[in-house]
Amino acid sequence: MKKILAIHTGGTISMSLNDQGGVVQNEQNPLDNNEGLGLTGIEVETDELLNLPSPHMTPSAMLKIKNRIQQAAAAGIDGVVVTHGTDTLEETAYFLDLTLPNTIPVVVTGAMRSSNEIGADGVFNFKSAVEVAAADAAQNKGVLVVFNTGIYSARYVTKTHTTSVDTFKDPIYGTLGTVDHDQVIFAQQLIGSEYTEIDHVVEGVYLVKAYAGMTGELFDAINAAKPRGVVIEAMGAGNLPAVTLPAVQRLLDQQVPVVLVSRCFSGYAQPIYAYPGGGIELQSMGIVFCEQLNGPKARMKLIVGLSCGKSGRTLAEYMANALS
Ligand code: ASP
Repeated sequence: MKKILAIHTGGTISMSLNDQGGVVQNEQNPLDNNEGLGLTGIEVETDELLNLPSPHMTPSAMLKIKNRIQQAAAAGIDGVVVTHGTDTLEETAYFLDLTLPNTIPVVVTGAMRSSNEIGADGVFNFKSAVEVAAADAAQNKGVLVVFNTGIYSARYVTKTHTTSVDTFKDPIYGTLGTVDHDQVIFAQQLIGSEYTEIDHVVEGVYLVKAYAGMTGELFDAINAAKPRGVVIEAMGAGNLPAVTLPAVQRLLDQQVPVVLVSRCFSGYAQPIYAYPGGGIELQSMGIVFCEQLNGPKARMKLIVGLSCGKSGRTLAEYMANALS
């Protein structure tokens, strides 16, 4: 018998549609009753740790989830499922991936339709996630996201559609595997995984998206707030309007780590272009290219790196290393 801990944190998966047509939080989580799921050889324990719509999720709440998982692992649990709102699911999943030792399977899931809507996907996703968390094949795969039959690496998965049940995708590498009629099938192996021990999370890490016609004002406004770090979703392979550069330089002059990702849906950020504001100039200024992550994930990584005390070259290497 495998013992799986379900940590509920809120989101649509635990909500329902009210008479006015709005989706709201429930007093009683519809997932609390696991009878009828048809799980064989798996016992599910439940912890209602949080009940948050996921736009209310914070790095401190993520730390609480991480600590709860480590406590359960120390007590001998075989695997953990975290249910979560989908809006920030990818951030929590990646935070856990960055901060948990890879000792037991940890699977994050949610739902796009609340519990009493026609075609509700929560129970199906939850059951699939429990099956993955209990699977021997899920060991050493880092934190996983299971959604709509797909199994994804927390490192790359992202929410791609506002309402479709087929919303979670890994735009670069696709699925690691699938859950098909209770069978957990892995087809890809995760290469490399490092974790970083933290006991607190720093605040003041900002995320800014570049746009055509952007000037330096946003960067100066962030600078005035005394930031700990800034992630820029730059254009294309990693370029910015040249007029923003003096303001970005003012951040760097204050020793604020500035990390660059691409605002593109898929692909790598790389210093390719040599025109003013092109990636080559940005890299030579001291901006760190974080090749494969999207903006929200790079921000999570920067929070984790700063929270464990990394700075300067060590922080830059951590952010630039695609496999840590
Ligand atoms: N807005 C909801 C949330 O993230 C969406 C969901 O859970 O699917 O809490």
